[in-house]
Amino acid sequence: MKNIVKIHTERCKSCGLCVHVCPQKILHIGEIANSKGYYAVEIQDQDRCKGCAFCALICPDLALDVYREEKGE
Ligand code: SF4
Ligand code: SF4
Repeated sequence: MKNIVKIHTERCKSCGLCVHVCPQKILHIGEIANSKGYYAVEIQDQDRCKGCAFCALICPDLALDVYREEKGE
């Protein structure tokens, strides 16, 4: 299983904090507005995610969940 970032688009307020802290620069503000009018974050090239969870930790709106790859036995 790979690292997976689940984005709760309805919670995102487009603040950009997660975009800024991602060391892989794979998050960006998307072009589709949620029901509140915010352009939710999207992930590009998910395979490059390190599973560091910096994005989830900094998000003030709990809009991101990170599922880390299981390593070894
Ligand atoms: S878990 Fe880390 S590498 Fe993956 S999207 Fe979030 S900040 Fe970027
Ligand atoms: S930190 Fe949270 S609210 Fe801000 S852009 Fe990222 S997902 Fe959206």
